[in-house]
Amino acid sequence: MTSLTDCYTLSNGVQIPCVGFGTWQTPDGDVCVSSVLSAIESGYRHIDTAQGYGNEESVGIAVKKSGLPREELFITSKLTNTEHGYEKTHLAFEATMKKLDMDYLDLFLIHWPNPIAFRDHWQEANTGTWKAFEELYKAGRIKAIGVSNFLPHHITELMRTATIAPMVNQIRLCPGDTQEEVVNFSREMDMVLEAYSPLGVGKIFEVEEMKEFSKKYGKSIAQICLRWSLQRGYLPLPKSVTPSRIKENTEIFDFTLEASDVELIAGLTGCVGLHADPDKTTF
Ligand code: NDP
Repeated sequence: MTSLTDCYTLSNGVQIPCVGFGTWQTPDGDVCVSSVLSAIESGYRHIDTAQGYGNEESVGIAVKKSGLPREELFITSKLTNTEHGYEKTHLAFEATMKKLDMDYLDLFLIHWPNPIAFRDHWQEANTGTWKAFEELYKAGRIKAIGVSNFLPHHITELMRTATIAPMVNQIRLCPGDTQEEVVNFSREMDMVLEAYSPLGVGKIFEVEEMKEFSKKYGKSIAQICLRWSLQRGYLPLPKSVTPSRIKENTEIFDFTLEASDVELIAGLTGCVGLHADPDKTTF
């Protein structure tokens, strides 16, 4: 990867820009519109939102304001936890399209595999949801479909009835939280791994070892993290509402981490906490 517009190829041939712009905890309204616009101006062509973030409408406004043709941008959203099941998924998807005010979505993900509302029948709920995803995909409403926070047993269960395999698994991947088993399983299934919270939700900036890497390479800690993510073959999704940081996070193609440093960073186990167990979440 040599620029923000270089792409990974999904299993169905769809091209996905190698860095996405995160929007979790970005407030709906002016802040979201201006940060997404700032990202597009800085060269991002891939935006990650979700029904649960409550900011799809602002993402849609920013895309329009950018003036770019729709097909030059890659837009992801995610099905929220309360709307699993065949009919609810269809309705929730239409609501997303209305909020984004778009004709199609590039990628739609099941946000979590086992929400509290479906805990005693999550398998059945995901089967219904995936049937709806497949229909929307076949109808051209969504260019690619995938999952998020899915562990191998959730994917295996989904595949019992799926006729189309998920193309993406979006999981927490950051220094010291590398979820090897999930990564290996997802790769065997030919899925692209999207790395959420690549900066440990901002906690990475306090990690002493990362300060040393920053000095060694003459790059910021954020840039080291994002470079590390790409060198691990992940697709990082950094979030920021600060224009200077949004730009800083794009300047990651002019240096390379030594292989031994990539390993050392991976091995900083728990330095910014570890991922949640999706079978035990309370939402
Ligand atoms: P990140 O790991 O991207 O960290 C974001 C934090 O880092 C913010 O506080 C931001 O501050 C700060 N920051 C960003 N860049 C810099 C910089 N260069 N220097 C200093 N501070 C910086 O957190 P997220 O958890 O938001 O993850 C990224 C995206 O991944 C989300 O926005 C979302 O799109 C996705 N995600 C998906 C999840 C899922 O379940 N599928 C779960 C969590 C995230 P500020 O904004 O104030 O500039």
